Amino acid sequence: MSRPESSGISVIRSVDPEIAELVAAEERRQGEVIRLIASENYVSSAVLAATGSVLTNKYSEGYAGKRYYQGQRLIDAVEQLCVDRARALFGAEHANVQPYSGSPANLAVYLAFCQPGDTIMGMALPAGGHLTHGWNVSITGKYFRAVQYGVRKDTGRVDLDDVRELARKERPKVLFAGGTAIPRTIDFAAYAEIAREVGAIFVADIAHISGLVAAGVHPTPVPVADVVSTTTHKTLRGPRGGMLMCRETHAKAIDRAVFPGLQGGPHNHTTAALAVALREAATDTFRTYAAQIVANARALAAALTERGFDLVSGGTDNHLILVDLTTKGVAGKPLAVALEDAGIVLNYNSVPFDPRKPFDPSGIRIGTPAVTSRGMTEAEMRQIAAWIDEVCQAPGDEDRRRRIAGEVRELCAAFPAPGLPV
Ligand SMILES: *Cc1c(COP(=O)(O)O)cnc(C)c1O
Repeated sequence: MSRPESSGISVIRSVDPEIAELVAAEERRQGEVIRLIASENYVSSAVLAATGSVLTNKYSEGYAGKRYYQGQRLIDAVEQLCVDRARALFGAEHANVQPYSGSPANLAVYLAFCQPGDTIMGMALPAGGHLTHGWNVSITGKYFRAVQYGVRKDTGRVDLDDVRELARKERPKVLFAGGTAIPRTIDFAAYAEIAREVGAIFVADIAHISGLVAAGVHPTPVPVADVVSTTTHKTLRGPRGGMLMCRETHAKAIDRAVFPGLQGGPHNHTTAALAVALREAATDTFRTYAAQIVANARALAAALTERGFDLVSGGTDNHLILVDLTTKGVAGKPLAVALEDAGIVLNYNSVPFDPRKPFDPSGIRIGTPAVTSRGMTEAEMRQIAAWIDEVCQAPGDEDRRRRIAGEVRELCAAFPAPGLPV
């Protein structure tokens, strides 16, 4: 083997060569391509190591100091450190670090505050919301009466007057803000005011932007939200997981909903890795990274606009860009497939009021967290925009795609990714 690989892979290979080869290939792939999926990132070697630690062997139903099994002295210390770091980083009164991921975290919120059949309100998936905010195929759209808000056609942005009007009419028990394809700053204070007016619990789902919030480059919802929900593996750059933060008044309800309401034993290896990530997120290096994510997204948006791409809402304030390809005469999926062939990996995505189907939509979504973690800056963003444009102009040109894939590999070699062997 001439290529470097993580030491863990040879350990896997000695037992399971098939999986080892796949993991090794995925490791190479992550090193050699430009990853622009807005929800993805590269965790540090320390986060990876904690994820792969013996903490995976331990069962710990309950919370620190109140467990149902013995042998918890060290696990309690790990979870308490994690909770303390989360509270300090986000300025939250209470934190629960046990949700297995973002979707279970949101389910716990429903369990804490709603009965089946209650009215709940969130942003519609095609407008940029998340499945778990009441979309019809999700359990949250089936077990509750979900009402959904969207964005304005002319601005591509949420109109909070529309949200207020709908909330007044429908009187939801829970109001969600946040989503998966929102390129603009979210006015959490305005949502909080609406929720207060109609007597709803206000949940800020900051899954995508929690790293930006932690670093202070997006306004925080913590002072105004009843509950803040987040994943831990997107801009926050921790292990795959979820986390809930809330005021002390809701702490009991949230904790009971997570365990024993929804989950059994917490994933202690993930808790340890999250604690490491939260420590990393409290550093100046992380704050610089988060600010650069936004600077990179702005640079990429500007370069794409110059090249005639139509950006939903006209640009970005955060880590992501939503491109409506209608004027380019190519759909999202074929472009995403062609781009992958050229070493640029992103996802096709519905745009607001998309006349096309979700599996073959009009747009692509582009995020800058992962390339920023590699140390890329504005100059590389302009190069990436140029490559996207080149492929978009001739998605069927195989020679062009192959040439670009080579150039991409060369650029990536100059920007080693965290957690990958060099
Ligand atoms: C990613 C995401 C989730 C769900 O997270 P999973 O870990 O994939 O379950 C929930 N809400 C929002 C807004 C998200 O972006």
